Amino acid sequence: MADFTPVGLTITAQIAKCAHHCRFCLLNERATHDIAVDSFVAVVEKFIAHKNKTGFEVKQWFGNSYNFPLVEFAKLVRLFFKNGYNQPGAQDLRYIFLGGLPIMGKKELRAWLAARRELGCLHVAATYCGVGSSHDYNCSCAGHFNFQTKAQSIAADLGMSNLQRIIITSANLPQLNELLVKLNAVGHESTRQAFLMFYNGRGKLFENERPTLRQLLKQTPAVQELYRKNLADWKTEDGWAKALFVGKEFRQSDRIALRITAENIASLKDMSCEDLILDLTERTRCVYADIPSRQELAADYSDKANPKLYMTSWDVERLWLDRFMVKNPHISIDHSLLHFCL
Ligand code: SF4
Repeated sequence: MADFTPVGLTITAQIAKCAHHCRFCLLNERATHDIAVDSFVAVVEKFIAHKNKTGFEVKQWFGNSYNFPLVEFAKLVRLFFKNGYNQPGAQDLRYIFLGGLPIMGKKELRAWLAARRELGCLHVAATYCGVGSSHDYNCSCAGHFNFQTKAQSIAADLGMSNLQRIIITSANLPQLNELLVKLNAVGHESTRQAFLMFYNGRGKLFENERPTLRQLLKQTPAVQELYRKNLADWKTEDGWAKALFVGKEFRQSDRIALRITAENIASLKDMSCEDLILDLTERTRCVYADIPSRQELAADYSDKANPKLYMTSWDVERLWLDRFMVKNPHISIDHSLLHFCL
């Protein structure tokens, strides 16, 4: 990582006021920063102008919930559409995520969705972890399962398409047949995606619910169909460590990360893009110099006997780094600069 030369920047600001407290929330930082949407937009627009001059890429993220008043959300949609909405890893505001929204009645929900469809948001995405009250328990929100199925039904009536994301845990595997029946009853064709919990945020506390390949292969054909295509990508720690040494699917990140906070927003407005990029690049180099390389982490901190499956290389990198940090408590780093920070 010593000769790290970034080609792009990811700007993050936790400004979305999520209404939930999911048991397995993937975010490290849930507290929102008191930053006006206009200020976030101004910083990102400055870097979009810089990108147009220099080719230095920029992506942006504002938190995990779309719980904004319409007028503020419209500013975000305009910004994201201006910067392209289909970059890998970036938020895609053609999709409205239901996670983190307060429960609304049918009439209010229809008006809420219709107004966002007018902005160009054409798809509605819902994440399910379990069925009925078990999903509600995982989201710490009574009635949330019914709220999401109702919202997806209204979305389809409005001509929007639905994405149903299903988190697979060993605890909810026995409920997946029932979940599929309930989701089919939404009544309109939906795209489905299977997910594993991220190893991040509160998700780190539920390693005991992370499934193994053996458990997944014991399920009914209908359930296995959900994740059949994913099985080639979901790997154990050992699988990811071996893939790292083959090297093909592991590209060392070449991006820097700028986290906007209530404390730094004022100074960011005054600094030039060039100065900010130089400063972040130097600080990122220092962080990576203090920790082992990905190959060293894989060799020294992976548990070859762990049969549980992980969805991405970033999950195991976070896990291995955690083990390294426990063994090296004297080392302190700014995690927000790491390529796998969320
Ligand atoms: S997982 Fe998403 S919806 Fe749930 S608490 Fe975290 S940010 Fe909110």
